[in-house]
Amino acid sequence: MSWLSTFIRPKINAFGNNTKDVPDNLWEKCPSCDGMLFHRDLKAAQYVCYHCDHHLRIDVIERLENLFDDGQFKEHAVRNVPIDPLKFKDKKKYADRLNDAQKKRGRKDAIVVAEGKIKGQSCMIAAFDFKFMGGSMGAGVGEGIVLAAEKAVKGNMPLMVIPSSGGARMQEAAISLMQMPRTTVAVEMVKDAGLPYIVLLTDPTTGGVSASFAMLGDIQIAEPGATIGFAGKRVIQETIREELPDGFQTAEYLLEHGVVDMVVARKDQPEKIGSIIDMLMNTNATPKGKGKKSTLKHDNDDATSVPLPDVARGGNQARLKAAAK
Ligand SMILES: [Zn+2]
Repeated sequence: MSWLSTFIRPKINAFGNNTKDVPDNLWEKCPSCDGMLFHRDLKAAQYVCYHCDHHLRIDVIERLENLFDDGQFKEHAVRNVPIDPLKFKDKKKYADRLNDAQKKRGRKDAIVVAEGKIKGQSCMIAAFDFKFMGGSMGAGVGEGIVLAAEKAVKGNMPLMVIPSSGGARMQEAAISLMQMPRTTVAVEMVKDAGLPYIVLLTDPTTGGVSASFAMLGDIQIAEPGATIGFAGKRVIQETIREELPDGFQTAEYLLEHGVVDMVVARKDQPEKIGSIIDMLMNTNATPKGKGKKSTLKHDNDDATSVPLPDVARGGNQARLKAAAK
């Protein structure tokens, strides 16, 4: 070793040491245009690329802060559900996987139930946390949607669900599939109370989530470029052995084909959603609490009268009816 490495190098290292504190994630690359995005500017732009308008995924809490007036909202704690009743294990125990996600994300499951005002209009929101096991829907997430529906009915306010999910949580097998009818019954109760049910589809909304409550909104809003579908493009292509069109399963494609009502940029969402709620709540002019009858027309009004097996119902109806009183 020469003096170069024993004397000069430590000096140089010490000199450059203050760069150590600089985090290495100051810049992010846009997945659409490859443009470099400075983290502070990206945050200020609500995680929308300022080169090409591509909507990147946004943290659930930041999304809620951007939606609600002054970033203020009240979070409601989701009731506990039995943990891992099937004792499922793949490479890792499901209970451990869940525990890790809970520690990392600081919440019980992949859903946040929040109440606040959007442009002065009260609204109950159930929003998915995609960073929590890919926003997958198990009993805990189902419970969150039921809770949000109950609170919306009780508080006489609209319910908005914001899915961002890969679908059913496979570790909960049939229990996760049961959340499909369960959440469907929950949102039907909101509709029965004459309250608006809005869905804001974000990237991605797929699987069992898109096959249940996520497609049942009175108003279906989607975020630009969001992937929305049931099975993935490749799976469909291999099954039907046909080439699928460009933009298949994007928000814009679904708008063109009548599956969603509008595609709204993130920065315009509070304004748009606020005015929709204002419009729907005002047409619903029955005095509060007096035999509220829906003025919204639902094609599937009869669906709720079809008795569901107890296990699928999960006690929703009785609880929601009690909450509606
Ligand atoms: Zn871009």
